[in-house]
Amino acid sequence: RGAKAPDYLSGLNPEQRAAVETTEGPVLVLAGAGTGKTRVLTTRIAHILATGHAWPSQILAVTFTNKAAREMKQRIGLLVGGEVEGMPWLGTFHSIGVKILRRHAELVGLKPNFTILDTDDQIRLIKQLIQAENLDDKRWPARTFATMLDGWKNKGLSPKDIPEGDARAFAGKGRQLYADYQNRLLTLNACDFGDLLMHPIALFKANPDVLADYHRRFRYILVDEYQDTNVAQYLWLRLLAQRPRETSAKNAPPINICCVGDDDQSIYGWRGAEVDNILRFDKDFPGAAVIRLERNYRSTGHILGAASHLIAHNEDRLGKTLFTDTPDPEDPKVEVNAGWDSEEEARAIGEAIEDLQRREDHNLNDMAILVRASFQMRAFEDRFVTMGLNYRVIGGPRFYERMEIRDALAYFRCVCQPADDLAFERIVNTPKRGLGDATVRLVHDYARGREIPLIAAAGEMVETEELKPKPRNTLRALVADFRRWSELLSTSKHTELAEQILDESGYTEMWQNDRSAEAPGRLENLKELIRSMEAYESLPSFLEHVALVMDAEQENEVDAVSIMTLHSAKGLEFETVFLPGWEEGLFPHQRALDEGGRSGLEEERRLAYVGITRAKRRAKIWFVSNRRIHGLWQSTIPSRFLDELPEAHVDVMEANTSYGGYGAGGFGGYGASRWDGGAAFKQSAYGTPGWKRAQAAQAGFAGGDQQTRGGDGWSGGRTREISYEAEPG
Ligand code: ATP
Ligand code: MG
Repeated sequence: RGAKAPDYLSGLNPEQRAAVETTEGPVLVLAGAGTGKTRVLTTRIAHILATGHAWPSQILAVTFTNKAAREMKQRIGLLVGGEVEGMPWLGTFHSIGVKILRRHAELVGLKPNFTILDTDDQIRLIKQLIQAENLDDKRWPARTFATMLDGWKNKGLSPKDIPEGDARAFAGKGRQLYADYQNRLLTLNACDFGDLLMHPIALFKANPDVLADYHRRFRYILVDEYQDTNVAQYLWLRLLAQRPRETSAKNAPPINICCVGDDDQSIYGWRGAEVDNILRFDKDFPGAAVIRLERNYRSTGHILGAASHLIAHNEDRLGKTLFTDTPDPEDPKVEVNAGWDSEEEARAIGEAIEDLQRREDHNLNDMAILVRASFQMRAFEDRFVTMGLNYRVIGGPRFYERMEIRDALAYFRCVCQPADDLAFERIVNTPKRGLGDATVRLVHDYARGREIPLIAAAGEMVETEELKPKPRNTLRALVADFRRWSELLSTSKHTELAEQILDESGYTEMWQNDRSAEAPGRLENLKELIRSMEAYESLPSFLEHVALVMDAEQENEVDAVSIMTLHSAKGLEFETVFLPGWEEGLFPHQRALDEGGRSGLEEERRLAYVGITRAKRRAKIWFVSNRRIHGLWQSTIPSRFLDELPEAHVDVMEANTSYGGYGAGGFGGYGASRWDGGAAFKQSAYGTPGWKRAQAAQAGFAGGDQQTRGGDGWSGGRTREISYEAEPG
């Protein structure tokens, strides 16, 4: 073979290169932020392809988000010099899970065109089941059950496996509700996000021949962000990566697994991620090569110094050394800024962004605001709209979650998946057609009795006397509409059909006649929905895309500041990162403080580490002394994490705020409570007595915390679906 290494290998350091070139046998890359773990994975795939070790279809590669998967695919193409044909198995746990499940749906009692429930559908369904058990759904809220359900599925537990305590929850009906829920999903021909892994695990176990097929198929398995896999994901991976002993004896080609991760960046423990997965890798995969990378290529010495010093306060960690290039005296230190309240914080950050744009010729794309809780986003959004500053929210409530979009999607789902009862229920009387609850209940009963979908039941009932003439006629027309649209599915262009459905159903008209201020925006959104379909081949493939890819609108090309939660920033990097809200009770979050133990607080600290290490050149931290949460003002005190930053790498900024003079205390001289210099100043300036401040800080973020417990709120909403968790969570 030639002496010159292929281009894609040049530039890698020796450890990275070893991780790329050790193609045979299990490999674990355990290394800190910005050391090139993701780059190693990408290059490793390129290497496997370029050297002919495997075809694209023989590689299973798991990334944390769909966006990361797309980027990885692109980069692989660049590395091997040309478009990569295929790579069908590069995606998130969930996108790969759904693909496997579609191929073998029958084995778990589903049809291949099953629907993936979103959170709303799921809650509605659970509520029905709770009511069917004659439980008061106020006392036994569906959301609480949904959270438990998530927890079980993250752990890979089916109804029979859940702990006794859980089984007795919900007035003793916990286990039964879970079982009912799963049965109901099967009759609906639907599954939830957790099932995208649970079903494959079950079917692999029950059908060794199917699993053996995948063992023959996948020669290489690669996983990014391995520290955040949960138990279900781990079980799924292990099934795919390990042949049963009997077969390995027969000279079957090995399956080579390579996982990369960083225990210091494990931030999904609250959603069932198990950092232990990474720590016991060499037990699961004997003979594993464990490779450590110590050179950070992303950040300046100040950023790395600050982050490393902070994370060293955690006791539960393996500990790593990290170094970066010799520092440039020009490198800015990590900044700590103080503000009065969130409005001022947003204003100041907006100005800083414009300033960078002007002075440094920064693109907005190079900047991100990383918040601890999604409620913090609003102030920035409001401010940036006023300033006319382009921004995009990543991981928040977004396009596909808007009411009109969900209604439209429900119509499309009914057309493509006639067993989709939840979709049918959503739109049967939207727009209002006089098909009230009473009628729907009758259809429901009829459907239940015969175990057929609602729409089929409706079709039969309109031929009988069971409904009053008026609703019967309306329903007959609606059923006929759906039949006609379904028939057009194979002949019409899908975008035209979609438009036709919205027109003929009266849905578009409903908003045209609506006098509310939002109506024009909703019509715009519906138009945008149809536009966005053009990139897809068919209505079903579009629906699948919507169910899986909630981060689609990030792709737009405009220059914009990103606003996202710290959780969804994992793996990303930006020239400049703004980190607002470093206050006790918000960050670290009150929930972690309430837990008391070390683990919650340490996870918060890892989150801070993730936040700082997203920055290549500038990290600007903020804290304010007053924050309004759900309409209530709270006085706050600076985050303990500020005290844990090393002076050598940090600049405390002179406040240029309305009250002036913060930073009188500054660094040094105050020891652990050096921030109190500023706080004390504010306190006297504003006359907030110390005890009151302390009390407020203790009461902390009760409101915000409730939101977090609900599941979605604080961690960035749909991250649950688009990253590991739900992708993991
Ligand atoms: P994280 O833990 O945050 O996910 P990571 O370990 O995955 O980080 P990468 O994102 O792969 O790190 O790399 C960080 C940055 O360093 C990227 O911009 C990458 O292109 C660059 N980089 C990695 N390795 C090298 C190298 N050998 N030479 C030059 N740049 C590199
Ligand atoms: Mg990475």
